[in-house]
Amino acid sequence: MANRTMSKQVRILTCVALLEVAVIAQTQIPEWCRPLPRPEYKSLHRVNVSDPWFEVYEVRPGVFALYEPHQAEEIISYLIVGEKQSLLFDTGMGISDIRKVTSELTRLPIVVLNSHTHNDHVGGNWQFETIYGMDTDFTRTNARGSREDAQAEIASDQICGNLPKEFNPKTYVTRPWKIKEYVRDGARIDLGGRMLEIIATPGHTPDAVALLDRANRLLFTGDTYYPAPIWLFRPETDLVAYDTSIRRLAALAPQLTLILGAHNIPVAPPSVLPRLVAAFKQVRASKVAGTPASSGKVLYKVGEISFLMRSQAASKH
Ligand SMILES: [Zn+2]
Repeated sequence: MANRTMSKQVRILTCVALLEVAVIAQTQIPEWCRPLPRPEYKSLHRVNVSDPWFEVYEVRPGVFALYEPHQAEEIISYLIVGEKQSLLFDTGMGISDIRKVTSELTRLPIVVLNSHTHNDHVGGNWQFETIYGMDTDFTRTNARGSREDAQAEIASDQICGNLPKEFNPKTYVTRPWKIKEYVRDGARIDLGGRMLEIIATPGHTPDAVALLDRANRLLFTGDTYYPAPIWLFRPETDLVAYDTSIRRLAALAPQLTLILGAHNIPVAPPSVLPRLVAAFKQVRASKVAGTPASSGKVLYKVGEISFLMRSQAASKH
């Protein structure tokens, strides 16, 4: 009896302790990671890799989405595999070892091209030898690396789950990298059996590009479009250029079957591009009421498309 009673007491105490842990865990889970895993991933083909920081999905044959779901950017880099070489479109946060992940997916040489050079897209650039870059001062400045933006990415409300064991938050920076070759609008990159075309899409940043795989009807849009609030508030963002760029991409929609953006979810239908143009037009014409967001920003929402902008920036004048 004594034992049973004691074990019951222990059980009660354990339950209370677990409840407290659960309550603490609940309050510590950042808002953004509560809806994870996102339902869209259920229908995608997951590929096992050894590093738990990444989730990898083969979204089309030879096209791998390298997703980092434990950090608030939910950044997605893409490895596109040809017969002779592969292209890595962005290198993620630099929090874990993206090069090792790519080596588990392809043995072909890898060239890196960034959708643009914000820190969350270039974190692993330093690990690769062949980096293509746009010929802009913005790109050259970012290639020197930086500490501030990187450090902001690992604030406690930005992390969901565990950081990699080898990761040292104190020394975390965006490491510098070398641009091996400049590329420009219209350039083609032959991967062997797969041709990619670079489309300059300045706006989000001066060096933003989209990547078109015309034969396979795929368009990789970087931060010009992804299925979450599109960030258009930073000083390097040019709204007039952005408008021109999204119109150019929308003109390609009839030739496409899939849009692959750089955050949250790797798949979207091409019909989203004309809707993006229409939504942005409405916002710029002051026809959309914004919702105030943090630090003087405003969120504009039109259907499933939304933009996070500086207050007063939306209208044309
Ligand atoms: Zn960006």
